[in-house]
Amino acid sequence: MITPDPFGNGPAAPCRVVILGGGTAGWMTAAALARHLPGVAQVTLVESEEIGIVGVGEATLPHIRNFVEQLGLDEVEFMERTHATFKLGIDFRDFGAVGERYIHPFGAYGTEVAGVPFHHYWLRQQPAAGAVDGTAIEPYSMAVALARAGRFAIPYDDGTIGTTYGYAYQFDATRFGPYLRDYATRRGVTRIEGRVEDVERTAGGDVAALHLADGRRIEGDLFIDCSGFRSLLLGKTMAVDWEDWSQWLPCDGAAALPCAAADDEIEPFTQALAMPAGWRWRIPLRHRIGNGYVFSSAYVSEDEACATILEAVEGEPLADPRVLRFRAGRRARSWERNVIGIGLSSGFLEPLESTSIYLVQMAIARLVELFPVGAITEDDRASFNEQVDMEYDLIRDFLILHYNATRRDDTPFWNHVRTMEVPDSLKEKLRLWRDGARVHHHQYGLFLDASWISVCLGQGLIPASYDPRADAVPQDRLADAMTSLKEEIDRRVAVLPRHGAFLNARSPQ
Ligand code: FAD
Repeated sequence: MITPDPFGNGPAAPCRVVILGGGTAGWMTAAALARHLPGVAQVTLVESEEIGIVGVGEATLPHIRNFVEQLGLDEVEFMERTHATFKLGIDFRDFGAVGERYIHPFGAYGTEVAGVPFHHYWLRQQPAAGAVDGTAIEPYSMAVALARAGRFAIPYDDGTIGTTYGYAYQFDATRFGPYLRDYATRRGVTRIEGRVEDVERTAGGDVAALHLADGRRIEGDLFIDCSGFRSLLLGKTMAVDWEDWSQWLPCDGAAALPCAAADDEIEPFTQALAMPAGWRWRIPLRHRIGNGYVFSSAYVSEDEACATILEAVEGEPLADPRVLRFRAGRRARSWERNVIGIGLSSGFLEPLESTSIYLVQMAIARLVELFPVGAITEDDRASFNEQVDMEYDLIRDFLILHYNATRRDDTPFWNHVRTMEVPDSLKEKLRLWRDGARVHHHQYGLFLDASWISVCLGQGLIPASYDPRADAVPQDRLADAMTSLKEEIDRRVAVLPRHGAFLNARSPQ
């Protein structure tokens, strides 16, 4: 592989990158390479309209804003084109026990005092462990308070509690890819419509070219497999092993069903509602509501799942339920020889915390950093694979937490996840939390303190103790500080616009 010589001494032949697949992963990769490596990567993308895309990834994480910003996209235009709304977190219902509810917010609870995180002070104020209501921490989170009030404004950094929140987008996934396709093709990416039927390999085992059904041959130096669950290059051609995680994440199907929005109130959050054999999502967009029942086929049939989601949606269904089948897990390696899997071709961990598009974004960022200059090295591959693995492992443990930290025993599904053996890495994280309300720290990757605190407290995992340094503050001063913190949040939330009004003011529809 040859890339331009920065010292001006050699030939400047760009690396021929062939992306297989034009779903969200394919077009995000094409757009990012066109933006960040112009002249270095010469990108061709092959997609087949006949095969189509998954098209149901609708909720995202705040990191998506970096992606949008780094491409130089205008947020208002991007949101208009994808019918997007704002997301402040996820409202979980019935996960800890039927009737319980908590929000996993994008933002902190309170502020750190003398190096001690806020939740330790909050725990100190609570009654004895058996009587603690974990959701009573919520009024100290600006993101939760805003979400509960249905209000929204763009946070700006003024150093006050009022802006200690982040946001992501909820958008129409079938519009995101085409939007990025316009962006990428305007920047020199070549799009080829066609179905790949055969993969040609070199004597050494690398991929040399893709053969299309109509006889065309697409040659390349580096191949990005964005072919979705088919995993045509990484899974089939390179035969990279699949690590199955369904013993911990037993949901293996989803019945998706968009419906009409019932009224003008658009919630600035995603809902995850526990169901007898899984959970269902509810994602409000500008023009409709996305719904889907994520189920385990060991406990409910596809037909029952479809009937259940039809029954559950509030607005008029806009289509018949569409069933998607998947397995939780990942490929043992995402970069093998000259093939890199990005998106569903490299793994899937079910949509409970909206992590798939984040994983795509993270893989693209690593690819851009490690883009081959000269030959692909084993170091680059190893570094990429290590980082991707770490991201998957962190997400896996956090997702399992939502299932395992339940007190539900009312259905076989919930009974199974409550009693199953969890990975050792999660056992250790749970021990840290249970013993002293501590959250495992890592330098990169998801999820950070507020996320663990919200799910653990929200699902009734009350720690036995807290950081003893929290006892250093006199009781009356602590009580006053907590009251004024809550009042300050309430005051700020009360003057912010309703989410729908905010959206309309920016871009009327
Ligand atoms: P796909 O969308 O499947 O695209 C595959 C592409 O490969 C298509 O263009 C197809 O035409 C092409 N292709 C395949 N084979 C060939 C061939 N032989 N020749 C030519 N072209 C070919 N993610 C989130 O971040 N948030 C969510 O809320 C979320 N919810 C989800 C809910 C469900 C039920 C599922 C299943 C996924 C969800 N995801 C979510 C994941 C998200 O949808 C995907 O990560 C994202 O769409 C990326 O998909 P992809 O591009 O890898 O694959």
